[in-house]
Amino acid sequence: MNLYSKKNIINLFKKYNIKPQKKLGQNFLIDKNIIKKIIRSSNISKNDIVLEIGPGIGTLTIELSKKVKKVIAIEKDKTIIKILKETTKGFKNIKIINQDILKIKKIKINKKYKIIANLPYYIVFPFLKKFLEEENPPHEMILTIQKEVAQKIVKKPPKANFLSIFINFYCDSKILFFIPKESFWPKPKVDGAVIKLSNIKNKNLEVDKFLFYKVIKIGFSSPRKKIINNYFNNIKLNKKEVYNLFNKININPNLRPENLSLKDWIKLTEEISNLIL
Ligand code: SAM
Repeated sequence: MNLYSKKNIINLFKKYNIKPQKKLGQNFLIDKNIIKKIIRSSNISKNDIVLEIGPGIGTLTIELSKKVKKVIAIEKDKTIIKILKETTKGFKNIKIINQDILKIKKIKINKKYKIIANLPYYIVFPFLKKFLEEENPPHEMILTIQKEVAQKIVKKPPKANFLSIFINFYCDSKILFFIPKESFWPKPKVDGAVIKLSNIKNKNLEVDKFLFYKVIKIGFSSPRKKIINNYFNNIKLNKKEVYNLFNKININPNLRPENLSLKDWIKLTEEISNLIL
């Protein structure tokens, strides 16, 4: 079935008496060239195991399944799964799981895997946090997300932000291309972007990731303030100790958080860990 035809999709929804659900971020890709571009830039081969979050009606799922060994497709909406089962019938290497990805405790894939997904926009941050902190993270992710969020993720100092520092602590990030909102049905309010997160397993393994998270969360709590002000009263150190801390690691305490590099945040985390643990 041609899943790029709006008419076909509308008929499928009619057949099962359902409607796309806004609250689940259901905006389906209907542009064949975009799907092709995602597949091409994913660099996938017959040895790959791919986890797809939110397969929806299966447009991307089917194209992935033609290229890889196995697609594990996790979909929260049990009604749309009726459509998904129909469209993916006959593709033996697709495994459909009806679950909320955020509620899955442990990812039970003991092999190397990639995540490729057109994410429901409302779960982007919790999803990234979950998979980057995962004991067995994917080694690469190719994600369709909102354009503005993608642009935020790749920002560097002096324009860094909480999200860019958090993500680049774990991996390298790169915007591959943008997707106009007309390529989705129903049409969302904003354009999308495809982002690649790579080198996931190898970075900063020696740093306490949970402490790092706390340190940047506090550091960016008021992004327009001087960095030092965000730490007063927020960690177990008095004002003088906080000043000494910044002096010791040679970071100007009057800078704003957006000016600090990933290396600075790591130094800060390590020094805080020496002082409070
Ligand atoms: N992959 C399809 C495509 O590209 O056309 C659909 C993408 S649509 C943006 C997002 C999909 O994620 C929807 O099918 C939605 O039901 C599903 N979804 C939403 N929240 C989810 C969650 N927490 N866990 C798993 N799937 C979810």
